[in-house]
Amino acid sequence: LISLFIMSLLLCISAPCMHSPAAALIGLSRSEKYNTDGQDPCRLSFLDTAAAAIDFGRIYHHNPAAILRPVSAEEIARFLRAIYASRALATGYRQEYLTVAAKGAGHSIHGQAQAPDGLVIEMSSLRGVRIHVADGAGGYSYADVAAGELWVDLLAEAMKLGLAPRSWTDYLYLSVGGTLSNAGISGQTFRHGPQISNVLQLDIITGTGELVTCSPAENADLFYASMGGLGQFGIITRARIILEPAPQKVKWVRALYSDFEQFTRDQELLVSMDDGAASVDYLEGFVVVNNEAMRSWSISFPTDTPLDDSVFNDAGTEILFCIEIAKYFTQSDDETADVDKVTGRIISRLSFIPGLIYSVEVPYADFLNRVRVEELNLRSRGLWDVPHPWLNMFVPRRQIQRFTTSLLKIMSPDTVKGPILVYPVKRSKWNTNMSAVIPEDKDEIFYAVGVLRSADPLCLAGSSCLNDLLSQNQQIIDVSTNANEIGNDKSEPGMGAKQYLAHHSQEWQWKNHFGSKWGIFLQRKARYDPLNILAPGQRILNRNH
Ligand code: FAD
Repeated sequence: LISLFIMSLLLCISAPCMHSPAAALIGLSRSEKYNTDGQDPCRLSFLDTAAAAIDFGRIYHHNPAAILRPVSAEEIARFLRAIYASRALATGYRQEYLTVAAKGAGHSIHGQAQAPDGLVIEMSSLRGVRIHVADGAGGYSYADVAAGELWVDLLAEAMKLGLAPRSWTDYLYLSVGGTLSNAGISGQTFRHGPQISNVLQLDIITGTGELVTCSPAENADLFYASMGGLGQFGIITRARIILEPAPQKVKWVRALYSDFEQFTRDQELLVSMDDGAASVDYLEGFVVVNNEAMRSWSISFPTDTPLDDSVFNDAGTEILFCIEIAKYFTQSDDETADVDKVTGRIISRLSFIPGLIYSVEVPYADFLNRVRVEELNLRSRGLWDVPHPWLNMFVPRRQIQRFTTSLLKIMSPDTVKGPILVYPVKRSKWNTNMSAVIPEDKDEIFYAVGVLRSADPLCLAGSSCLNDLLSQNQQIIDVSTNANEIGNDKSEPGMGAKQYLAHHSQEWQWKNHFGSKWGIFLQRKARYDPLNILAPGQRILNRNH
């Protein structure tokens, strides 16, 4: 069957017109002498395309026509130049014209790294980390990283020299190019900003196939466009990431609250203490709703003190809220004593439920890689490769209570499988020139909320059990962006929240999402990807002819 398929493709390209995207790609590769200049022809593959139609979400599955595993940035540029210049080649090829998606680690939820009938470029074939150590005369230490590298590998390389990036995601098996195309947030964001605020320079290939080096000082518009740019303006092939001296250990603390208002008040107090040595290095928080949360607590948080049902009974509630903080230190005795003192002082200012505080000390790399422990546990139980109808929102500070109440009302918390994260970040740590979208009010603080639910393994794409979860997500989006709170007067104004890792299918929804940034988004798109070739899985603009 495969031979027949290939023969039909070859027959197709020998014909004067192009009948399929695959044929068009073979035509392109021939016109580029791709397979005849001694390079490995398997790098452009038409056979194993199904793998590129799977992502972490397992909700959308669109096969590309082909997969490219490039060995260099120049190779990607050649392909994009050819596709951009191939209107003539594509003439007679009736379907929409070719599109191209860079795929990092494929951890998107809604098919964002897929290219239906197009070309998927597997960035994992571009690897490499080169570290520059600051010479003491000022300036940063940094790593030049191939965009297909995973953050976990960058951490390992940097730590060999006693260095580490300073802004993270909770999970490290994500590609550098993939998270920079979104923002990259975690408990360090309140202090250092998202990962996109910690990049000095990029190499990017635009939708016209031009390879451009950019930074805040050079080709700044393309630099800012690409940070949080959802892959719309170019394919990032290299990023220069700021490094700092790596701590060795982490004091990791969790404290429980029954009152949401107190929980957020204390989170905001911790953010306001952002004065280096006397404040925390990491701050997150989450909702503790049921047995599932208790199970994951014991797996991901290696404390000797177990958490059991009695905490809910004693507090007289089914839902608790947990602040999670961390203080970094090196291993010397002095520093250990110091970190205990500083953490003690910080904790003494918090109003958690008396006695419900837990702490543990772990190596820095283990702390950063904490979600891996959970991943391996879920994998061993067949619960990792399941649909993930995740929803991530940025919520204005003034609306966080209302948002969380609506969320818990819509979702029936007792069925929640997976964490619900709630933590504050600071607006001033985000550069408004960048494409990343955050709430448009002026408050210095807004909240990141992650509803990270797993569906039952039997809930396949399209099944009602998965669709029910997706429709709950949509209700939450409607309530918190431009619609109204469930059951309330329709005239009640929306909350001004924005989706993070957004998923929309209509152009008007994207226009709403970008808000005041929509105009600049369109201008930049016309400048850097005028034919809308790039990242079609985001479903923002259709391919131009
Ligand atoms: P992919 O899914 O491969 O790609 C995402 C998008 O970026 C696609 O549109 C793709 O075309 C584009 N893209 C990929 N590489 C490039 C490139 N080199 N140049 C241009 N465009 C490119 N996010 C957070 O911010 N914080 C978290 O704590 C966090 N935790 C997570 C935990 C888990 C278990 C998972 C599955 C995801 C988590 N995420 C988190 C979300 C994650 O940051 C995004 O899904 C991100 O896109 C994943 O990177 P990736 O390499 O898998 O990207």
